[in-house]
Amino acid sequence: MFKIGIIEQIDKNGIKLLEKHPNFNFEIIENVSKENLIKVLPKYDGVTLRVVNLDEEILKNCKKLKVISRHGVGIDNVDLKYIKNKKISLLITATANAVAVAEHVMYMILSLTKGITSYDQIVRSGDFKKKVNDVKTYELLDKKILIAGFGRIGKSLIKRCLGFEMKVSVYDPYVTKEIIESYGGNKIDNLENDIKSVDFVSFHMPLNIKTKNLINLKILKTMKKEAILINTSRGGIINEKDLNEALNKKIIFAAGLDVFEKEPPDKNNPLLKNPRVLLSPHSATFTNECKSRMSVETVQNLIDFFENKTKDSMIVKL
Ligand code: NAD
Repeated sequence: MFKIGIIEQIDKNGIKLLEKHPNFNFEIIENVSKENLIKVLPKYDGVTLRVVNLDEEILKNCKKLKVISRHGVGIDNVDLKYIKNKKISLLITATANAVAVAEHVMYMILSLTKGITSYDQIVRSGDFKKKVNDVKTYELLDKKILIAGFGRIGKSLIKRCLGFEMKVSVYDPYVTKEIIESYGGNKIDNLENDIKSVDFVSFHMPLNIKTKNLINLKILKTMKKEAILINTSRGGIINEKDLNEALNKKIIFAAGLDVFEKEPPDKNNPLLKNPRVLLSPHSATFTNECKSRMSVETVQNLIDFFENKTKDSMIVKL
């Protein structure tokens, strides 16, 4: 019998799958304070993990732990060096969330170009005709979008952009020209150069030393005044202070942010008050369908691991 800790509640469909399985007993850990995790995690053979940070201080007492099953694909909340040393496996829900994130990007692009909130307020306030010309809206037809990072989500997003007849360029040094062109995109090699001429940029790369502060004021200053940035990948890829300044000085037009350098962001983070920013609380994957898929895949990955059937695509190569 394997003992599983579910760190933070997951959708009921994953729990049902675990309940049906005779070889596992599990507990849901609602108290995710560091002190409690240090106390309770050592008894488990495997854990599921949402957004809590599993650092060395927590992991060093987990002598039985063989596997961490991430509910999602981001791996920046686990001490990767430590688990590699201790031969603890890390699994991700590789097929569960690309569509939900790609749709969230389209929602942000459409919200920012179609005046959704302003139009709604105009009708409700009775100014049906008077104020309508104050709202600037745009079409996506023939607009240029740069997709930065062409993995699962980037590949799902390009189909949606092409459906709107946008022109798509892709920046990903690790994906070949042939693959990008087979999806209908145009490979670019120099982000700093090509970012100057695009209308939209959407980020879909991991946060690491190379990508932290990738977008800063120097680069923002070279972009088009009408440009819109969307970040659903990880906070910190776009420098928040520089972004706020660029928006206030009208260097670029707008930004859509699902992720932040610090989550939740501080109440006094100026981006929260900036009218040129559309915000969501790291919720791109929170569709009903995606929550269910992620929960089931997180649990299935654990079951597969203990039955020696783990799918290669779910394993993080450390
Ligand atoms: P993925 O691993 O499938 O793709 C990432 C891509 O980024 C790869 O193709 C890789 O070659 C590319 N890349 C790596 N370094 C790069 C660099 N320096 N410049 C350009 N490209 C680079 O990952 P994915 O599933 O597509 O997820 C992408 C990002 O989205 C991750 O950071 C993940 O954490 C984040 N994410 C966020 C949410 C959310 O709720 N907002 C949900 C899922 C994923």
